[in-house]
Amino acid sequence: MDYEAIICFETHVELSTATKLFCSCLNEFSEKPNSNICPICAGHPGTMPVLNKQAVEYCIMAGLALNCHINNRTYFERKHYFYPDIPKCYQISQGSAPFCEFGFLGIIGDDGNPYDVGIRRIHLEEDAGKLIHSPDSAASYIDYNRSSVPIIEIVCDHERNPIRSVREAKQYLKKLQGILRYIGISECSIEKGHFRSDVNISVRKAGSVNFNNRCEVKNMASFKAIAEAIEFEVKRQIKLIETGKANNQETRHFDEDKRVTVSMRTKENAHDYRYFPDPNLVEIYLDNDYIEKLRRSLPELGDSRCSRYIREYGIAESEAAIITNDRELSEFFEKTLEFGTDPKLLSKWMVRDLFNALKNAGVTIDLCRLSSENFAKLISFVEDKIITAAVSKEILQEMVQNEINLDDFIKVRNLSSIRDDVFIMSKISEALAEQTASVAKVKKDPYDPALNFLIGQVMKKTAGKADVKKVKDLLLQAVTNLG
Ligand code: ZN
Ligand code: MN
Repeated sequence: MDYEAIICFETHVELSTATKLFCSCLNEFSEKPNSNICPICAGHPGTMPVLNKQAVEYCIMAGLALNCHINNRTYFERKHYFYPDIPKCYQISQGSAPFCEFGFLGIIGDDGNPYDVGIRRIHLEEDAGKLIHSPDSAASYIDYNRSSVPIIEIVCDHERNPIRSVREAKQYLKKLQGILRYIGISECSIEKGHFRSDVNISVRKAGSVNFNNRCEVKNMASFKAIAEAIEFEVKRQIKLIETGKANNQETRHFDEDKRVTVSMRTKENAHDYRYFPDPNLVEIYLDNDYIEKLRRSLPELGDSRCSRYIREYGIAESEAAIITNDRELSEFFEKTLEFGTDPKLLSKWMVRDLFNALKNAGVTIDLCRLSSENFAKLISFVEDKIITAAVSKEILQEMVQNEINLDDFIKVRNLSSIRDDVFIMSKISEALAEQTASVAKVKKDPYDPALNFLIGQVMKKTAGKADVKKVKDLLLQAVTNLG
């Protein structure tokens, strides 16, 4: 029996406004606890919220970038519940009238075809404070710096093209993160808690139109944890169906150590939050001119850049997709092109060598020290055989971490490629004398893998500075000439 999974994310994204959603406190919560608070965001009775216009615009921009309909009339509602990190005992959120509805995010589905994942709604709301538990569990403290910081909640639509697999889920989240970074409304750092996803998962027999009970998994700190939680849940729910057991609608928690989901609480009915319009905040009317003005302010997004790169530069789709999903990378690419680098060559260098170097250094493109100009120069040096590809990797690693003068660096470290055939031949002779077994193999069959081993030996002796092709030619010649 085939099963299909229905995967829906609810993603909370911290907006990078200067101030909080309803007061003038700084939107900065990594500082000393309770240093950025006032009576409004600390929830004192009788205080009056004043809406942050920038937050509203950011929410609408997210909606436009995600192909949503923007509602002309919206309002805020109170969502009631008790928790110490929410001092008013209600959260100002949006219920029946969110800013944005009925959007989609395009991914490539598992069948290889474009697939527009449905987005049900995007609403604007305030974040909660943060509880800090003392290590001995003797006391808990509350930091209200994050209280009332603006967040948007992006909710997938389970009835319209839901995500169906871990692969699609990862793609959705990465693209969502990329798009929101493109339009500059959030840093979207998972580590810093700017981009927090809960996921609803249910499973049904393929082709069925009814939905089975779903589980919501909370508390996932990384893309990896999200992927593992989904995988675990899908297997668990299929097993329940196959053994004829009921799947309770419940909230589960992903256990980071055991890498499994565990039940937190059963949801018999959805919570009754007693939503009602916040009487302290007026309704909001958005005219179409204003919405269109915001639409025009959006930069060219990744998908559009991706097709442009394929069309204009003829670069591979897989490479174009990776480069354009990140605005910084895409801008780095375009800037490097200005120095005359061939686009196809450049995209290969970026996806292969630059990514490796960044990964080794543990930095992202915006934080690395490499300039477009130096990168273009490095590539041209390899093309012109001034340095070898092997040596260029070493130099690139250095350039990602430190600002260097490329010409001086090559000169001082003596990294220029070796063109002296006599010198290369002397190293080949050394290698041949040392590796007699491999030599015998290559003599018998020039296509024997031992040839690569011998090339490697010679490259080692020249510190990677000899031209590989030249080494290969000379080596084969030398082996043939052996008696
Ligand atoms: Zn405040
Ligand atoms: Mn929410």
